Amino acid sequence: MASALFIEGIDGCGKSTEARLLKDYLEKQGHKVAMMREPGGSEYYEGLRETMLAHTARPVISDALLSAAGRAANIVETKNYIKNDTWVLSDRAYPTTFAYQAAQGLNWDIIEQINDFALGGFEYDIKILLDLPIDVAHKRLIDAGKKPDYWQSRGLDFFAKTRENYLKLAEQEGHFIIDGAQSIDAVHQQIIKIIAG
Ligand code: ADP
Repeated sequence: MASALFIEGIDGCGKSTEARLLKDYLEKQGHKVAMMREPGGSEYYEGLRETMLAHTARPVISDALLSAAGRAANIVETKNYIKNDTWVLSDRAYPTTFAYQAAQGLNWDIIEQINDFALGGFEYDIKILLDLPIDVAHKRLIDAGKKPDYWQSRGLDFFAKTRENYLKLAEQEGHFIIDGAQSIDAVHQQIIKIIAG
């Protein structure tokens, strides 16, 4: 049976690295696998990605609503993949709105309501948070030579708030929390254990 899974966490925690490794692993096991990401994933949300990463001034509610619009399209696609016995691995998902927009001061309950509209009752089967200290994640991004995007350029205090929000939601909803400061392979092995149930 295919499952819908997301990997979440602050920038540089290893989401995309681990999602790629997991895709290879599942395909070797004979599964069909679709990759999603946020912002992006479905064609519709990919079209909104640039707007969400642009340095354009806007109220925080706009990002929450725009991400929900894109997310709703991803959920439709995700459900179709699952029906087609295809695993869905999402690099970021709805927790990103809690992490980032709550860090910008948007009320937690409002984010919850907006996400509820986008998800329409859909539940991911496996919810993973890669948690690690912000300085470790920050160093990885610098070492990788990544130019800070709209969100990363907000500084370490903002980064720290997003980490706290991820942990708050993970505890509230019972996500699997993995120590993302471990080696790439150690994290991969833990993810494999989780999906094996
Ligand atoms: P994210 O998608 O969460 O922003 P990435 O997977 O792009 O993070 O990883 C950011 C950088 O850190 C990349 O250069 C990647 O190779 C490196 N990296 C990822 N996971 C680890 C790890 N467990 N240990 C050390 N470096 C890592």
